[in-house]
Formats: sequence, structure tokens, C-alpha cells
Amino acid sequence: MKLFDFFRRKKNIPEGLWTKCPSCKELLYTPDLKDNFWVCPECGYHFRIDAKTRVDITLDPENRKPLFGEIKPTDPLMFEDLKPYTKRLEEAKNKSKVDEAILFYKGEIYKRLVVVGVMDFNFIGGSMGSVVGERFFRACRYCAQKELPLIVFTASGGARMQESILSLMQMAKTSLAVGFLREKGIPYITVLTDPTMGGVSASFAFLGDIIVAEPGARIGFAGARVIEQTIKQKLPKGFQTAEFLLEKGLIDNVIHRKDLKNFLKDMVDMLFYKAKEWNLDRLNATP
Ligand SMILES: [Zn+2]
Repeated sequence: MKLFDFFRRKKNIPEGLWTKCPSCKELLYTPDLKDNFWVCPECGYHFRIDAKTRVDITLDPENRKPLFGEIKPTDPLMFEDLKPYTKRLEEAKNKSKVDEAILFYKGEIYKRLVVVGVMDFNFIGGSMGSVVGERFFRACRYCAQKELPLIVFTASGGARMQESILSLMQMAKTSLAVGFLREKGIPYITVLTDPTMGGVSASFAFLGDIIVAEPGARIGFAGARVIEQTIKQKLPKGFQTAEFLLEKGLIDNVIHRKDLKNFLKDMVDMLFYKAKEWNLDRLNATP
């Protein structure tokens, strides 16, 4: 890594070509980092990635179709904090290049047809407002009707304050929608990425049949500082990390980003595509 030391000292590094790892502070060559699924090759730190990058590394390049893009945000409360909510939405859209905090796609994972939902933390902190709730609801209904497994990647600070009670209602609405899948025996898998907090973790993030997380992801409801102030106790080391939650039995596994696509393929096979064949084989077998 002597070369990196050389570059580190050098001034006028072209912006975007080098990325500093926030964990081990190593200076990383951005194209290499990209090829490595945005995971630091030195320490394994998983960088936060946007929704479109997530879709690219999860779905096969062919046969992708965006879903529910027609559901757009509105401002029913005419809310204004430091700036009007409509302005905030517009800025978020320009900054994040997505039109809301969750996108849905129908597509394939190694040729297995699935629907994936991907949250984008860059859009108002991945907060859940009416649009996130409605798109999620429709995705569940769609998957139940078409009999397709649903996979959702969460990344959220929680409910969207600017939509007040309408945001909180989405917790009940999304939880109810998961029931459509359950009734039909359709698998619903959640992948919790950094960070998954608040109303999202308290609703659809933790309702997956299989719940996995990326290494080091911060997952919880209230923030650690708020909890410490409330209970007036020091929290254990690693509190609210994916690894801590795995140890305490709240999630099923922690999966490295490079292995996720394979893992999801195995899961939809086991829970759905192969399972159907196995059941048919069993039914057809003569005793
Ligand atoms: Zn690192």
C-alpha cells in the first residue's frame, strides 16, 4: 500500500477517482472499489450504495422492469419546516436521482423471476412516507397475484416527519400487506442494509420470512444515544450492529455483499421455485 501513501501525500487528486474508507482510512482507487461491490478490500467496510447500484448488482441485466413509478409524492399537509416540503422533495429528487425513497423492479436473479424493492438513503434519509407505503403495498399485492417472491433491501432513518401521521400509518399498512404474501405462501425476504432504523425496522424490515443483513449495518429502532439517555445506562459494545443482532437471534444471517445475489438465488429456489418442483415430485411419487 506504499503507492497509496504516495498518492495520499500528493495534492490535487482528481475528485471521484479516489475514495477514502471511513473505517480503515485507506485511500482506495474508486474503479476498483466499484468492481468490489463498494466493499473496502482492506477492511471489508460496506459502503452505503444507492438504489440504482443495488439493482445493478442484484438483478440480471436483462428483463428489468420498473414497477409503481406512477405513485409520486404529494404534499397533503402543506407542510413547512425550514423549507416547504414540496421544495424538499424537489431537492431530494435532484440530489438522489430517484423519485422516492423506494423503487421496485420486476427482474431476474440468475433467471429466477422476482420482484425487488430497494430503498435509497439519499432520498430524505430513506424515510417512509405515503409513497413508500403505497409502493410497498402494491408490490405485495402484485407478488401475491402473480406468485412472485418479493425481496426488499431496506435503508432508512424511519418515518418521514414531513408527512406526520400519514407516515406512521404506513407501518400498519405495510405490515398488513405482508399478510397477502403469507396467505399465498409467497416468500418475502428482507435484506437490512446500513442504516435500517425507526418505523421501517418496526414494520416491513423485520417481517421477512428470512431476514438477513449486510456486515456492519446499523439496525435498530431509536438511536443508541437516545436509548442511553432514557435508560441512563451504557449500552454494550457493537449494540445495534448486524453482528450483534445475529448473536441475539433477531436476524437469520449476516451476508457479505458479494455473496448476496447467490444467497438470494438459493433462498428463492429453496422457498419457492425448487420447493414447487419438490412438492410436485412428492405428490407424483408412487408410494
Ligand atoms: Zn477499509
